[in-house]
Amino acid sequence: MSKPKITVIGSINMDLVTKTNTIPKVGETVLGESFFTIPGGKGANQAVAAARLGAEVTMIGCVGDDAFGSELKNHLTAQGVSMENVKTIPETSTGIASITLSNGDNSIIIVSGANHFVTPEVVKQHEHIIAESDIVLLQLEVPLQSVIEAVQLARKHNVRVILNPAPIQKLPKELILQVDYITPNEHEQEMLLSRNDMTDEELIQVKEKCIVTKGSKGVMLYQNGETFIQGYKVKAVDSTGAGDSFNGALAFSLSNGAALKESCQFANAVAALSVTKLGAQAGMPTLQEAEEFIS
Ligand code: ATP
Repeated sequence: MSKPKITVIGSINMDLVTKTNTIPKVGETVLGESFFTIPGGKGANQAVAAARLGAEVTMIGCVGDDAFGSELKNHLTAQGVSMENVKTIPETSTGIASITLSNGDNSIIIVSGANHFVTPEVVKQHEHIIAESDIVLLQLEVPLQSVIEAVQLARKHNVRVILNPAPIQKLPKELILQVDYITPNEHEQEMLLSRNDMTDEELIQVKEKCIVTKGSKGVMLYQNGETFIQGYKVKAVDSTGAGDSFNGALAFSLSNGAALKESCQFANAVAALSVTKLGAQAGMPTLQEAEEFIS
């Protein structure tokens, strides 16, 4: 059987994590406890989730011409993601998230860097890849105009689109109405549906596209009436990237021909497994691991 083809157009970041007891005040220098780097970015995370499960994943994105850029390209290639269509942008830094962890709290600075160069033109250059995909998977960490371009090209070629509306921002209603599935968390769903430029009928249409992730509680979907899928009880170690695992798994299952409810049940299990290990990508299971967990 041929592998499902998923194209992810999105962000590629390196997360720079510092653990410290004391957060420095302005002008102060403190000694931290530890430092580590973890590959991240919603686009890259979702690509890895789908590739681990066995999809043929093509990433469209940009990295900078720095050490993080080449490290991430190598890393994602090793995870089975095709990086041939990821551009290296000269004199630009790779996207980073600088994360400070201190006594259970965190503060984060994101510099989008090369992700900013995923322009509508870059998306257009890859129309042939979009056209050959079973599913296009999108998030909102690259310019919005590029997301809009990707949705239009996918529509043109009758390719299904999943939009993970994170980080949430005001979206043009035409965009929301054109995608097949939207995967907000509870907070993002509230933002999506609280707008006054849509008719009641349009709001119902949007709601029916929504697959709402509710953390440990599980998942809610609204197509053909409301369906609630209970979350798995697992020992959660790190919930970072749970949503990304969910989206990658949903794309994998739908593109493999499964029905929506079945795909959400599968993604719910994959995402639950992913929170049992430290790091967004580290806990993402293979298909065999997911099937063993479910059975
Ligand atoms: P993130 O931004 O951290 O990636 P998110 O807010 O986008 O997360 P969540 O709704 O928190 O997404 O989680 C996505 C899915 O992951 C949930 O619908 C559920 O299937 C699974 N999940 C998350 N946390 C847990 C948990 N503690 N136990 C079991 N499953 C979980």
